[in-house]
Amino acid sequence: MTLPELAGRGDIFEAPRSLYIHIPFCSSRCDYCDFHSFAVGRNCDGSRGLNSFAEPYVDALLRRVTDLKTRLRESIQTLYIGGGTPTVLPQKSFLKLLKTLAVLFGTSLKEWTVEANPESLSQEKLAAMLDAGVSRLSIGIQSMDDRELEILGRGARKRDNERALALARRSKIQLSADLIAGIPGQKLDGLASSVQAVLDAGVDHVSLYDLSIEEGTVLEKKIRQGLLLLPPEEASFSSRKHAEEMLMAAGYNRYEVSNFCPVGKESLHNSTYWSMNSYLGIGSGAVSSLLTTGETRTSLIQDIAPELSSGALDSAACFRIEEGRMLDAYMTDPDASMTTSWINRKDSAFELVMMGLRTSRGVDRQRFLLRFGKDLNSLLDPVLKKWKDRFIQDEKFLRLDDRGLDLLNPILLDILNKF
Ligand code: SF4
Repeated sequence: MTLPELAGRGDIFEAPRSLYIHIPFCSSRCDYCDFHSFAVGRNCDGSRGLNSFAEPYVDALLRRVTDLKTRLRESIQTLYIGGGTPTVLPQKSFLKLLKTLAVLFGTSLKEWTVEANPESLSQEKLAAMLDAGVSRLSIGIQSMDDRELEILGRGARKRDNERALALARRSKIQLSADLIAGIPGQKLDGLASSVQAVLDAGVDHVSLYDLSIEEGTVLEKKIRQGLLLLPPEEASFSSRKHAEEMLMAAGYNRYEVSNFCPVGKESLHNSTYWSMNSYLGIGSGAVSSLLTTGETRTSLIQDIAPELSSGALDSAACFRIEEGRMLDAYMTDPDASMTTSWINRKDSAFELVMMGLRTSRGVDRQRFLLRFGKDLNSLLDPVLKKWKDRFIQDEKFLRLDDRGLDLLNPILLDILNKF
């Protein structure tokens, strides 16, 4: 069964309302990155560059998305083009992608986000986005300090970041900036300066991520070899807290563990992930997640998963599909190159709690009860008692306070032991 066919199976899955599209190309590879992306001019098969890939890749994407559109039962409400770096696409392919998506989904969208890197955000690219109806631009700023940008292996420098922010801010597009905390060599006030700079630029939304050291990256190797030193944990934590306080003082609420904005500027697309609703991911390496629905799912699941034993069928709660990572294979036959897996009820229940607790809204207890037939408070009783000062409850939601968000990992570990 193809991904578009699966997405249309309303008798088995909750209808997806969010669509992610992956552009796996970048102008160069950042030293900390382990995302699925290829540097322009190399990788993939080691011989061909972006120009020979961009057009057929976009064509393959658009064939798939067009097929998908004909099978969806509900309209798509949030669209997100990420990567990689979507704005690194040649203008012709970029325009074709945006125009076709606008025709397919434009009328139903509540939010349309495109990711950009400062050095590839041009006036022409921005104009193309605005013409197509893109409502939100997410720029990978990461830092406003040249030394930190160099350590991260970013292609942009402070002046590129400033130029991109100023260019975007001249339009009415909603503007989000990504920043990274805990960069090796980051000065005590380094993060605060970057936060101040994006606030001064008038961004609507800030994503503040802790640097994650991924195995096999250039950065990990340099740290392992002692060429770079991570900042001490305590200093890193206090500079992050200071940055968060600056954001909150400026009216940017911490609505998710790493995301800040004034009320009404929250990312609707990312909220789909945090709420664990069904979503679709199209493009090499993208992931779709389809939640099973209704009482009758066991017999129906057998249609698409004859390999599952009857016991496993009972517990199948969520279907994950990863699009193929090899570009040539993906462009030739995306369905043949995708891989699938079932998430059982136990893991799916934990995911719902884990993702919900990331947000200031919290976990919807009624939804949990309906999906998994268990009362969340009873299930987590010992954890709620242990962390009683950190949990907040209202009629519908269970959530963590700000300190609790800082302690999310140890709290989740305790929760995991209860599942
Ligand atoms: S721009 Fe983003 S996706 Fe591309 S290499 Fe850098 S971090 Fe990775």
